[in-house]
Amino acid sequence: MDTARTFKPRTILVWRKVQGHPETERIVNMFREAHVEVVDRQHLIRPGGQSPGRALVAGKKILMIGEASSFVRRFDGCLGDGVRCAPYLKLVPISNGCPYYCTYCYLARVYRDYLPFIKVNTNHAKMFDEIREAAGLGWSGVAFNMGEMLDSLALDSIVLLTERLVPFFSHLPNACLMLLTKSPHIDGLLRCTPNRQVVVSWSLNTQRMTETYEIGTPNPAERIEAARRCQEHGYRIRLRIDPGILYDGWQPDYADLLREAMRVLEPENVTLGMLRLVPGHLGLARQVYGERVSGLRNTGLSDRASDGKLRYPSYRRVEFYRFLIDAIRSFARRPSVSLCRETPDVWSELSHLCDPDRCNCLVW
Ligand code: SF4
Repeated sequence: MDTARTFKPRTILVWRKVQGHPETERIVNMFREAHVEVVDRQHLIRPGGQSPGRALVAGKKILMIGEASSFVRRFDGCLGDGVRCAPYLKLVPISNGCPYYCTYCYLARVYRDYLPFIKVNTNHAKMFDEIREAAGLGWSGVAFNMGEMLDSLALDSIVLLTERLVPFFSHLPNACLMLLTKSPHIDGLLRCTPNRQVVVSWSLNTQRMTETYEIGTPNPAERIEAARRCQEHGYRIRLRIDPGILYDGWQPDYADLLREAMRVLEPENVTLGMLRLVPGHLGLARQVYGERVSGLRNTGLSDRASDGKLRYPSYRRVEFYRFLIDAIRSFARRPSVSLCRETPDVWSELSHLCDPDRCNCLVW
């Protein structure tokens, strides 16, 4: 079941300042059965006695409508010891913005105490000002990554953001809007005229891993079909296979996934990553998802990674990436292939097969 398609908040919290705002009224009118409450604060403290896990589940049914103090945040590419990523700007129009229940999702920890709800920010004029200002800083090719703190499309039929952002970016030749999604909700994108400044990237995993660990998300076939339709419409398409997960039979499953994707898509890039968890994640996720989370741990994660995260040992990651790169190359020569958030030892083993300057989050 696609929990974005069936999304209905039980409660809508309206920050007093945006009461009466046309955007607030439009969204509230979409959910007439929801309990609506006007509140004076945009943060909630988790009630005493409610575990973070219960708050996380309850929060997926609470919609806060408010304003953001900033929409654009700088990410410098530093991720702790030895792990470097490309610097980019995060674009966050919806805070904690995802109705899906991926067991490995790091947003669960990021927002666990203060924003146990999905928060739609209505002060779009500020968002456009910040984007304009950041795009004019003089860098060549400024990436605005809208997939880091939310699923870019899952709630698009409610927030109608792509219809505002796609035409806006068409006037910013120096900038690029990077959308990342597991969702097939592309109606907004299809209503727009595509332009070079917008890239849509689909996160894919095998059917088995999707069913087991990406609860509530559309299956890979639906995602590939959505990507195909956007490609046909004229959008730039990329793919992200992340997090790769090891299990008995992973090789044929990932090969089948790539074969099917490459049969209908011509992505300009495929970025690969593997499961990585901050140490406290499993305890929180177990409160929400129970024993299936132990399955993640039991796939061979080790706690000895140089960045302090639970990761597979380096040799297993290299084995996984080699297998997937070979599979990609057997089906398609065109896409650049890159690795996401990998350690220097893994990069050095695979540098001749990957292009660090052409990954999912970079502009070219
Ligand atoms: S789709 Fe992305 S943002 Fe949403 S729960 Fe899954 S990992 Fe988190």
